Amino acid sequence: GDEMTIISGVLNYKSKTVEEVMTKLEDCYLLDVLSILDFRTIAHIMQSGHSRIPVYDGERHNIVGLLLVKDLAFIDTDDCTPLRTVIKFYNHRVQRVFDDVHLDAMLEEFKKGHSHLAVVQRVNNEGDGDPFYEAIGIVTLEDILEEIIQSEIVDE
Ligand code: ADP
Repeated sequence: GDEMTIISGVLNYKSKTVEEVMTKLEDCYLLDVLSILDFRTIAHIMQSGHSRIPVYDGERHNIVGLLLVKDLAFIDTDDCTPLRTVIKFYNHRVQRVFDDVHLDAMLEEFKKGHSHLAVVQRVNNEGDGDPFYEAIGIVTLEDILEEIIQSEIVDE
């Protein structure tokens, strides 16, 4: 029954890693830091339905900032404000976590309360160049809670 499902979820979630429950980068709604906050862009952000949008510079795996949809409250679309200006102004800290971190450790991080979204990263040492950190997805508190209760939480 439901209780057994939840109890087994509670017992098993610790053994899983953030990589197993994250939203993969290719499925993430991200914004290019060069974006201009005109009507079209803001409408698109609203349509995404997400409250937090990671911002990348150059390549999608290079996350440099975070936009909260509420940051847009005082933006006048006629001003065509560069996204970079808003990102610099609010300067929200981007929480980062390695792909192999277990969900109990991630839950403890989220409970500290800086943010309930983290960028999942790994070291890329393929290729000839120096190794670098690359984002491979995002994980939120909701992803962990779903793993514990073993069912989808439908957003409003
Ligand atoms: P939100 O309500 O802003 O989408 P939640 O924390 O409730 O944020 O997450 C709901 C689901 O959406 C989770 O699976 C999470 O990984 C995913 N998610 C959150 N933000 C984004 C985003 N910018 N792009 C794609 N998926 C996202």
